[in-house]
Parts: sequence; structure tokens; C-alpha cells
Amino acid sequence: MPLYCDNCFLAFEGERCPSCGRKKCREAKDDDLCYLTEQNVIWSGLLADVLKQNGIEFVERNVLGAGLAFKTGMMSERVRFYVFFSRLGDAETIVEGLFSAADEAPEDEALEDEDEAAEDGADEDPEDADGFPDI
Ligand SMILES: [Zn+2]
Repeated sequence: MPLYCDNCFLAFEGERCPSCGRKKCREAKDDDLCYLTEQNVIWSGLLADVLKQNGIEFVERNVLGAGLAFKTGMMSERVRFYVFFSRLGDAETIVEGLFSAADEAPEDEALEDEDEAAEDGADEDPEDADGFPDI
């Protein structure tokens, strides 16, 4: 059974809260609000829509205050999402699906690069990676 830190709104496995380090946390209950993710304004709108479509209740909290967001521009504002512990697993699956799909192309490239590097064997010197001599 995961524990819950009501200081950080965080459900976690293990002995102490990974965020604040508190040791004496109680077990998570179904109606505990749990930190889910933090997203920029654009993604937070999309995530909110998908959570609603899946019938998952959530709470949004803007990380910057309204005044600061006005000064720095809306794009820099971040939104934190909290969901009830009973739906945390479902919500995490949605987040993973949404944001891994968005990163698909660059991740595939990275994997191919890793494969090539592995085939090249022991040559791990980054200086020689381009094949051109240093001038
Ligand atoms: Zn904590």
C-alpha cells in the first residue's frame, strides 16, 4: 500500500516522501488528492480535456501567481494537476500515453542512434565521433 504525504500531496512507495523526506506518512486513501504531473499551459489544456473525457476528477493549480504570469507571459506559466488517489493509476496511464505519443519521433531517433553506437562497439570517444580530425 502506498503512503501519502499531505504536505506535498504525493502518493509514493517506500518509507519516506521523495519530495520533502518526511518519514511519518500515513497510508494513502482513495479520496486523497495526489500530485499527478506539471505541464505548460498548452499541454495542461489538452490533459484537462482527456481527463474529463475519462471521467477523472482533478484539481488544477497554477504554479505562478496570476500577476507573475502576466509579467512573464502566459507561456511560462505551469499548471500542476492533482487527482484522487483512487484514480491516480488511471490518470498516470493517460499522462504517459499523451506525452510519450508527443515525444515519439525524437525518441525513435535516439533509439536508432543508440543502436548504431552499440554496433560500433568499443569506440566511445565523442571527439572522434564525426570522423574528422581536430584542427
Ligand atoms: Zn512530502
